[in-house]
Order: sequence, then structure tokens, then C-alpha cells
Amino acid sequence: MEQVLFRHNRPGRVVTFKEYCDEGGFNALRKAISEMTPNEVQQAVIDSGLRGRGGAGFSTGRKWSFVPRDLPGPRWLICNCDEMEPGTYKDRVLLEHNPYSLIEGITLACYALGVRHAFIFIRRGYEKAANNLARGLMEAKEAGLLGQHILTSEFSVDIDLHLSAGRYICGEETALINALEGKRPNPRSKPPFPATKGLWGGPTVVNNVETLANVPAIIAKGPGWFKGLARNAEGAGMKLFCVSGAVQNRVCVELPIGTPLREIIDGPCGGMKPGTKFKACIPGGASTQFLTPEHLDVPMDYDTVAKVGSRLGSGAIIIFEEGCCLVAATLNLITFFARESCGWCTPCREGLPFVKEVLTRIEAGGGEERDIEILREHVKYLNYTFCALAPGAMAPLDGLLRHFEAELREHIVQHKCPFK
Ligand code: NAD
Repeated sequence: MEQVLFRHNRPGRVVTFKEYCDEGGFNALRKAISEMTPNEVQQAVIDSGLRGRGGAGFSTGRKWSFVPRDLPGPRWLICNCDEMEPGTYKDRVLLEHNPYSLIEGITLACYALGVRHAFIFIRRGYEKAANNLARGLMEAKEAGLLGQHILTSEFSVDIDLHLSAGRYICGEETALINALEGKRPNPRSKPPFPATKGLWGGPTVVNNVETLANVPAIIAKGPGWFKGLARNAEGAGMKLFCVSGAVQNRVCVELPIGTPLREIIDGPCGGMKPGTKFKACIPGGASTQFLTPEHLDVPMDYDTVAKVGSRLGSGAIIIFEEGCCLVAATLNLITFFARESCGWCTPCREGLPFVKEVLTRIEAGGGEERDIEILREHVKYLNYTFCALAPGAMAPLDGLLRHFEAELREHIVQHKCPFK
């Protein structure tokens, strides 16, 4: 199967700069600078159907098109590598094997957007990935592919690597911008979106690692080719899926968008763990709703997964087996989100610990019938916040109420966890 993001990977080690270049690396940048205008590069990304791989799935080209062209003053590009969505480790795997596709992708994005200075905002725990990037940036600069007058053209761009202090909220794009500015990483209200008013008030595009790493292949081989990689007409391109939980092999694989869930489990994951049966999964990182056995043949693309009431999100699939308590699993996720709330918005600061308390009570056998309605109301109320943290935290709870209300009720009726 054709690989885009993992094309240059070597087993157990990072690809070298020479190997990447020998395999056509940086040819997309050469092509863009010598044959394409910035608008043509942007149009190719729009036509490719590339959507944000961090979790939101927003059209990348459209996001770029929101950047005003005529404003004086600098504009910025930030690559978000503050990957911390539970279950999500795809950007780490990508960068531990190959930092160059991202560097080339950032440079191409800067060319399209007229950006002269970009940042890679990386999680402090991603030391190996950060070292690869630091070395890659130096190599690209020495080869004239970064810095002043790239490939002797008029185009110049610098990329700074910024090590995050490391909290989940720092990955939220406006909190990230505050962090880069040296402020406390509280999210800002949107609008204004960063594309018009972001870093130091300037137009700013924030894109995920996987998103930007796709750009060189789109420019080298064309948007039609990229779109055609998907398994269905709803999707475009490839996707990194990182699967964890009750499967034989926990893997991070690159597959065409639109690959059905069952094929991911039975193929690269080698099926469910011996003796276990699929009960549910969270398809796109912790802030997505549960899918159930009836969804096993759902093609994993943004629109189809949304149609069945969840989200493709970051593509981090967490598999739960029969006999596993989903109330406890949801409690575990809510505990994470309650801990990571920045405390800026009241519903998030106060609501998440309260939801955690109610779920803890239910799991311990002290739940009451009215708790189910209380939980349902909080799924609604916790949507009124500056950022996606609290609404995201409510997604698994929403799925639990929608598909596994009977399991919640059993906890309440039996005054104990029925799985213990
Ligand atoms: P969002 O839907 O608010 O925005 C998506 C992107 O589109 C943003 O960059 C936003 O600025 C832009 N955008 C949307 N509408 C726009 C408009 N009208 N004009 C200009 N720009 C516009 O989502 P978000 O808050 O960026 O991301 C939330 C998602 O992030 C969640 O769904 C979650 O799955 C994911 N997430 C991922 C990780 C991870 O580790 N990968 C961590 C936390 C959250």
C-alpha cells in the first residue's frame, strides 16, 4: 500500500537527511519555488481536500485562505506538536522516524502564506522528536533549504523550535499562542480566530504536525492524486491511526482515510486480544463519543464518523472489550480532563470536578437514579466555554449516555460496579 507520511521510514531509526533527499525529499519545495506562485500552492492544498489532522478536521486550505493578504506587519505559522490527547501518539512516531517531511511542509506553508517566521511548539516529553527536528532544521539550513534566500530565491523563512512547558491546555491553539507570548496559557475567545488575529496580534495559522507533513506530497504529486488515496469519496489522503486497548498489536499505522474500523482491528492490529470480544471504542482520542459493534463497518473518514454521532478526531482509537466497565473508563477520561482544565471558564473549572464526583459515586455503588439526568444536563451545559476542552471531555460521557445508559443504570440498581 502506498505510504505518504511513513514513506521514508526506516525500521528502528530516523531517516537521514541524505536518504530523505535521495528519495525525492525537498523536491516539492524546489517545484513550488521555481514553478508555482504562493496562491497556486494554497489552491493545491484546498483542492487536495486535506483536513486538519490534530482533531478538528477543519479544511487546511480554507484555514490558510482566511489569512488576510493585504495587512502590513508580520504573519506567523505555528506547528502544533503539543500532542497530548489521551491515546494519541502519531506525531511522536512520525517525528521519531522522519523530521524532514514536516520541515519541508512548514516551509511550503510559509511560502503559500507569505510567512517569514514559523514556530514548532513541541511537548517537552518528546525529546527524541525534538532532537530530530533540531538536527533536521540545521541540516536544511546548511543545504540552503531554510533561512535566507532559500534555493537562491527571494523567499526566506526561519523556523524556531519551542519546547513547551507541557500541559494539555497548551495544545489548544489560542492557549498555545499565549504560551509562546510568555503568558499564562489560558485560551482566548474565538472569534477572532488566529488566522486573522493570533500571535502578537498578527495573522497566524496553527496547523498540526501530520497535517503539514502531508503538504510536500500534495505539491509533488498533485491534489487529485492525494484525494484519490482515500478509500471513499468522502475522504482525502491517508491518515495515521494509533490504536491502543484490547487488541493483539497496539500500532500506529498509515492507512487510507475511509478504511473501515473492522479492517483496522483485524488487519494491522491482528484482531482483538485472545479471548476478548469488541464492546466499544473511542475513535479519535479521548474527546470523541463511543462507537459500538454496530459501527464496525463504518469507514473512518471525518464526515461518515460524524454522521454516526462521533468524530474521527486525532485518529487515536482506544478499544474496549466486553467485560470492561465503560463507566470506569469514562471516569478515567473525565479525571484527566478535570486535572488539565486551566480553570479559566467557570463551567469547565467547576463542572468537570463535579461530573467526576458523580461518576465516582456511581462507580462506587452510591449512585442515584437522578444522577443520570444530572450527567445529561452537564453534557449540555459544559459546551459554553472558551475552548474545546470541556465540550471534548463531555463527548465520551455523551456516548456513554447514548449507547450504555443501561450500564450506568445497572451500577445504580445493583449499588456496585457490575463488572467487579
Ligand atoms: P475548532 O473546530 O475550533 O477549530 C479548528 C481550526 O479551524 C482552528 O485552527 C480554528 O482557528 C480554525 N477555524 C475554525 N473556524 C474558523 C473561522 N471561521 N475562521 C478562521 N479559522 C477558523 O477546533 P480546535 O479548538 O482548534 O481543536 C479542537 C480539537 O482538537 C478537538 O476536536 C480535539 O479532538 C483536538 N485535540 C487534539 C489534541 C492532540 O493531541 N492531537 C489535543 C487536544 C485536542
